[in-house]
Amino acid sequence: MTLHYLRSLAFLLICCQLVPGAILFNSPDDLPQDVEYDFVVIGGGTAGNVVATRLAENPEWNILVIEAGPSNEEIFATRPPGIFHDLLKTRVDWNFTTVNQPGLNGRNQSYARGKMLGGCSSHNGMVYTTGSRDDWDRWAKVTDAEELSWDNILPLIRRAERFVLKDSENQDETGHVDPSLHGHTGNLTVTAPYVAHPFDDLLIKTTTELTDEFPYKQDMNDGRPIGISWNQFTIDEHAERSTSATAYLARTGGNVHTLINTFVKRVLPIGNGLDFRKVEFMDAQGSSRKVVAQKEVILSGGIFGTPQVLLNSGIGLREELATAGIKTLVNNPSVGKNFTDHVAVLVVLPTTLPDTDFDRDQALAQWNHNRTGRLIIPNHLNNLIWVRLADDAVPFGEGAFIDPTGGGKNSPHVEFSFSQISIHPPKTTVDIPDLPPDSNTTTVQMTAVNLHPVSRGSMSLNSTNPFGPPLIDLGILTEDVDVAILREGIRSLRRLYSSPSFRDSVSDTVLPAANVTTDEDLDAFIRSVASPWLHGIGTAAMSPRGADWGVVDPNFQVKGTEGLRIVDASIFPDLPSGHTQAPTYGIAELASSMIAEAWND
Ligand SMILES: Cc1cc2nc3c(=O)[nH]c(=O)nc-3n(C[C@H](O)[C@H](O)[C@H](O)COP(=O)(O)OP(=O)(O)OC[C@H]3O[C@@H](n4cnc5c(N)ncnc54)[C@H](O)[C@@H]3O)c2cc1C
Repeated sequence: MTLHYLRSLAFLLICCQLVPGAILFNSPDDLPQDVEYDFVVIGGGTAGNVVATRLAENPEWNILVIEAGPSNEEIFATRPPGIFHDLLKTRVDWNFTTVNQPGLNGRNQSYARGKMLGGCSSHNGMVYTTGSRDDWDRWAKVTDAEELSWDNILPLIRRAERFVLKDSENQDETGHVDPSLHGHTGNLTVTAPYVAHPFDDLLIKTTTELTDEFPYKQDMNDGRPIGISWNQFTIDEHAERSTSATAYLARTGGNVHTLINTFVKRVLPIGNGLDFRKVEFMDAQGSSRKVVAQKEVILSGGIFGTPQVLLNSGIGLREELATAGIKTLVNNPSVGKNFTDHVAVLVVLPTTLPDTDFDRDQALAQWNHNRTGRLIIPNHLNNLIWVRLADDAVPFGEGAFIDPTGGGKNSPHVEFSFSQISIHPPKTTVDIPDLPPDSNTTTVQMTAVNLHPVSRGSMSLNSTNPFGPPLIDLGILTEDVDVAILREGIRSLRRLYSSPSFRDSVSDTVLPAANVTTDEDLDAFIRSVASPWLHGIGTAAMSPRGADWGVVDPNFQVKGTEGLRIVDASIFPDLPSGHTQAPTYGIAELASSMIAEAWND
């Protein structure tokens, strides 16, 4: 052991917190002075930690991850699935607020984003869905990136996954999922836990009564998510959330240094002026510091953090940058544009079924004791429903609207997600309307979600404070087809509950009121209650090399730059027919292989 090595080790022990895996630094002052970083990853979130971990498999490479938030290790609520709502609007949530939304009758919305190691993966609802075959094939076509096709991405999604058929209660989920469709040796644990409730049996029975509209789907991750399925989650077999921090970063060695509580301001060019390998960040006192990546910078700040760093670096639309007093280095009008998100509407129906309420303290004690009980799942009901509207459904009739799924028959238009059965309002991650004042009865509470909105929004810098919260315009429901699809979704839900199975136990909706049935009334209801579903994407979209739109090339490189790639959900050109974390893990695995390959040659 050399003297130099011993000195370095002593230095590390004094200055930083040693946790299994990456070495954690609380302040830039603590970073060792004698380490040159090959890669600097901005944002230790869902995708960033995957990239850091995969690159660290080469022991010759040193990686620095810079994360604005704290370590996930400090935050207990990241662990029991059933209390994840406690994380919202806390210091580990960016808790953005959008500008007023014309499509929502002028209402603004809060918009959660994880701010800690693991990013949203430490703070999300844990639902695990890959999207449909058609989604990925369409993206491959739009971006000219054959690597994104379903057949090519699936092995990478599976590479990330460690599917376990038993949950913490040792329940066997055979029949709820098809294990052959899953990866079993990856980092991220996926299980299909459930808390049995009589509602489940009735719901599954409807698949034999209304088979055309609601077939049984044994595994929603088979590339064709249409029908009634059991849920799957990024929860391990000990009922703990599995994240990019716990499943990836925590398993790295000493060649990953993680600097937490540190905000990155921008990237700066070196050399020829387009090589953006210098990263400027703020220390706790607000002073600027810089670090240079020897090989590349990977920007993984998420849908708002990533374009904010780009814009502050002079990469964006010239006129917009000028307004913020920023010199344009790369004129790219697409930065921060093309934002889209699923759109959710709360639907509530009175029921005589038993409620799903429970004593939280008792449930927490049980979870702490043996990882069983009500907190092993995030919500209180166990299924998801995926509906593909008929080709001649009203929104598409007489050519009124083009089918936003691109006509792919494997993609649903609408998802129904169950929250709870209760007299109390649901805990949700988004702003929701009050329950009807006269509904002092137990209700089934669920959400109808438009999976393929065509409306587009944007994020831009707040010119008076470019490093503060950006201006977020969701552009939600600015296109009528998006409302029309939700309208048909609510009608579909009403059909579900008028099935023989539910007829005796669930009555017509109280939200929307039962007499809200015409197109006009339903549309007005939707605009008065809809909210984003926190699956935003697209603000640094991938496009073909040489395209006159988009922010990154198919190799994740920022157009017009060198040494700078983006790897996170902002690169998706469009939404998947499902939740966004599994696709994010998939593209992070893909990008990691590309980067490693580029430097291994
Ligand atoms: C409340 C909630 C519930 C959700 N539920 C689900 C679900 O059940 N299933 C599902 O599939 N998806 C869900 N999602 C969406 C999904 O989690 C995200 O789409 C995905 O995880 C995004 O990953 P990312 O890598 O793009 O960004 P993130 O995971 O957000 O990572 C970005 C990281 O960069 C950091 N950062 C940003 N700016 C800076 C800066 N300037 N300097 C330093 N660090 C910075 C952030 O703090 C963060 O850690 C949910 C999201 C939320 C918010």
